[in-house]
Amino acid sequence: MTLAGGLVTTLVLFAGVGRLENDNLSLLFAQRADLRVAALRQGFEEAVEVLTVTHTLFDTIGPVTRAQYHDFTLPLLARHPFIQAFNFRRLVSNADRSGVEAGLAQLRPGLVITEMVDGKLVPAASKNQYRVVDYIEPFEGNEAALGLDISNNAAVMDALRQAEASGRPTATRLFRLAQNRVPEPSFSVVMPVYARTRPDGSRGALLGETAVIMRGRTLVESILARAGHRTATGIALAVYSGDRPDPAALVYASNRHALAAPERAPWYLAQWGPQRSAARTLVVAERTWLVTVNAMPRPFLADHFGSLLVLLGGLLCTLISTAFVQLTMQRTRRVNRVVEERTADLKSINARLLDDVSARRRTEKALQESEQRFRQLVAMSSDWYWEQDARLRFTSVTGGLSAKGGIRVESLLGKTLWQRVPAMLTTEWGQRHIAQLEARQPFLDLEYEALDDAGVRRWYAINGEPIFDELGNFLGYRGTGSDITERKQAEHRVHHVAQHDALTGLPNRSLLQDRLGQAVAYANRTAMPVWVMLLDLDRFKFVNDSMGHKAGDVLLMTIAARLRSALRDTDTVARLSGDEFVVILSEHPGQPLTAEIVQRLMDAVARPVMLGTHEFFVTCSVGVATYPHHLAEPDTLIEHADIAMYRAKKLGRNNFQFYTPAMNEEALERVRIESALRNALERNEFVLHYQPQVHLGSGAIVGMEALIRWRHPELGMVAPIRFIGVAEETGLIVPIGAWVMRTACAQNKAWQDAGLGNLRVAVNLSARQFGAIDLVPSLEAVLADTGLTPACLEIELTESLFMSDITPAVETLHRIKALGVNLSIDDFGTGYSSLSYLSRFPIDVLKIDRSFVSDIGQDGPESPIVASIITLAHNLKLAVIAEGVETLAQLDYLRALGCDEMQGYYFSRPLPADEFEQLLRQGRHLPPATLRDLDVVA
Ligand code: C2E
Ligand code: MG
Ligand code: MG
Repeated sequence: MTLAGGLVTTLVLFAGVGRLENDNLSLLFAQRADLRVAALRQGFEEAVEVLTVTHTLFDTIGPVTRAQYHDFTLPLLARHPFIQAFNFRRLVSNADRSGVEAGLAQLRPGLVITEMVDGKLVPAASKNQYRVVDYIEPFEGNEAALGLDISNNAAVMDALRQAEASGRPTATRLFRLAQNRVPEPSFSVVMPVYARTRPDGSRGALLGETAVIMRGRTLVESILARAGHRTATGIALAVYSGDRPDPAALVYASNRHALAAPERAPWYLAQWGPQRSAARTLVVAERTWLVTVNAMPRPFLADHFGSLLVLLGGLLCTLISTAFVQLTMQRTRRVNRVVEERTADLKSINARLLDDVSARRRTEKALQESEQRFRQLVAMSSDWYWEQDARLRFTSVTGGLSAKGGIRVESLLGKTLWQRVPAMLTTEWGQRHIAQLEARQPFLDLEYEALDDAGVRRWYAINGEPIFDELGNFLGYRGTGSDITERKQAEHRVHHVAQHDALTGLPNRSLLQDRLGQAVAYANRTAMPVWVMLLDLDRFKFVNDSMGHKAGDVLLMTIAARLRSALRDTDTVARLSGDEFVVILSEHPGQPLTAEIVQRLMDAVARPVMLGTHEFFVTCSVGVATYPHHLAEPDTLIEHADIAMYRAKKLGRNNFQFYTPAMNEEALERVRIESALRNALERNEFVLHYQPQVHLGSGAIVGMEALIRWRHPELGMVAPIRFIGVAEETGLIVPIGAWVMRTACAQNKAWQDAGLGNLRVAVNLSARQFGAIDLVPSLEAVLADTGLTPACLEIELTESLFMSDITPAVETLHRIKALGVNLSIDDFGTGYSSLSYLSRFPIDVLKIDRSFVSDIGQDGPESPIVASIITLAHNLKLAVIAEGVETLAQLDYLRALGCDEMQGYYFSRPLPADEFEQLLRQGRHLPPATLRDLDVVA
């Protein structure tokens, strides 16, 4: 700002002073120019005055003689050096010419009136009138002009006419004088001369005119010189005749600068520059004269020294003051910064001081509060606070020791803890604690069990810390104690609940894992085997469903108790789930594990159980996995036992199996089959084979059983025994069974339509299918879709179906029966043979299981079971069909017993549809029964 302000001020001052200087210069110039112009005007007028004076001579004297004229002009010429000549021209008529010429000749012999033609003097041509130079002064130097007629000089004549009109002296235009050697612009001033004025005042006749011839430059120079204006004073001056600076009309120029056109400053300086030229016009002797004045160029410094000084001085001052201000500001800033820093430092110091003070106050307050809290807590606590001396004897106990802990304070004072709790000296925790005390370490939540004054077992928890004096000497311990018996008991309960089965009180799966781990660890240590038995009750579901869950629970509790009591204390029996139990048997020296132990357990289970008023017999299937025989991981032991148990079930239940790796293979195959089975249906891998059923009386084929086959791309033709079980477990049997039903019905209808007889097709239905809700509607749909007569369909059910839910089963059977479909019981005799059910079911046919048929002829032809089944069925008005008839002997025996139909390899294996059709077309049949057949029985 200082810089800018200084610069602006300087410039303004510079401009102002410059302007003043310019004004001054202009004024000076104008003055000087005006002085000169005034001098010129006066000089010019004086010069003209000379003519007026000579003219008055003629006016006053009348006719003037040559001598008079000479005398009169002589002093004038001396005074006015710029006058070239005075003359008087006489107006001469042609008549007077010779007289005048005679007069002239007196002055100079031979002189005649002459005129100027082409710059040369020649005798004048004859005219009416001549204006002849009669007198001329000074004569010397102007001789040539004497006798000259100027009437053909236009310049003079113009002025003359003007003067005649105005009666005043009038100047001519510029011309060059013939007589002058140095050419110099000259002019003359003329005035007419009349004869003396008449008395009446009118003018007399024109006599001629007087004229003064002046040298312009000399005139101007003498005027200026007389006025004291020399040209070297810085002013250049020019005078022109006329009002324009015409070079041809130039009268005078002081030097070349006077001729220069007036300087024109550029527009932006026009305002500022000084006036350097002026022009004035004068009117003298009836003519206009132009005077131009130019200032001579001068060095700039000469005119503007003052303003330049101001400029320089201003700039210098500005720079100095700017620098000064700059320095001052920097200093101020530095000082401010330092002041701010100091202030901040002071503030922070102040704040820290304040903080310290308030922190100290807070700490004191917190200390007081915590002390108070501690006192309140101890007062409120139901626990106790204790102190011991350096020998760890209790010196004081305050609080609820006797009320909560059941120990009188007096019984403790003066004693150590181990005197009160002798177990401390023998147990691991006690030894550890004593070591802690000897090391003078604090301890936290030390829990121990001890007897109270009343001899009741209780749990206590204590905390303690050593006390030292200022010198670091040990003074004893102090701490707190509490009774945690309730908590411990709750923990035990929770623990027990978490690890035991609620119903039987046996360890559950989680505790079983623990025990198994321990047993395996023990086996690893002692190199003695461990057996894991998985025991599954046979048909427990049946008991549960038929007798109710209560009865089921009682049964389970009974079995659990029996298992428990049949084992040694070191063995574990756990309930895995539902009716599955796991037993872990560890071998001990001198007590080898044998299969008899397993049998003993099974026997224990199999003893009759009284449920209400009923006596029940429950068997079980057992799988056993042994460790370390199969190098199995402990975890897989139960899995292996499960596989073995599964096998035992398959083998007809009520037996035990030891796990073998082959079983594992089987289990693996199950998995393989299961995954392949999922896609078999949509890949169309199933086919049906048909086995003929033959009427024993007529020997004719009366029906066929549809048996499923699985054409597996890798496993080949898979028998149903390998996959039906899996399909049932996974539920895949439902869609598969539906496919079988529809295919079999459609095939039968096709054969009937082909005229192959009204046969009956038997289709196996699994229990799982039987349970499906839409069984009856879907059966209906199949019959409707295929158009098969319901009587030509027989549904084979297994006995197992009736083991579970009987009531809904009976209802479903009735609904199926209502469709007009036949029902048969497959594999009769192998399942739960409660024959009483048969009367309640709407059954048409019994199929004797082939295991009974195969018995025929083993030990002689008789088979009492087959015989009694047939009798029973016939009593119940059921037809009987024997399965698996392979020999003629069997056939004969069955015929003899009155069995209605047979099915077996003896007549035909199950056949693909096309082969079966061929069989039908061939009309193959058994030879009809003969009397001889009946003899067999007899
Ligand atoms: P099943 O219903 O008792 O069928 C009779 C089984 O005995 C058939 O075995 C048949 O080939 C066989 N067999 C017939 N005559 C003789 C003989 O003279 N000697 C011997 N040793 N065997 C004979 P397959 O076809 O292997 O079927 C086994 C079981 O698979 C069937 O027993 C049945 O329970 C089940 N099954 C077959 N197809 C189906 C089906 O479509 N659905 C359902 N749920 N189960 C089916
Ligand atoms: Mg069957
Ligand atoms: Mg069967």
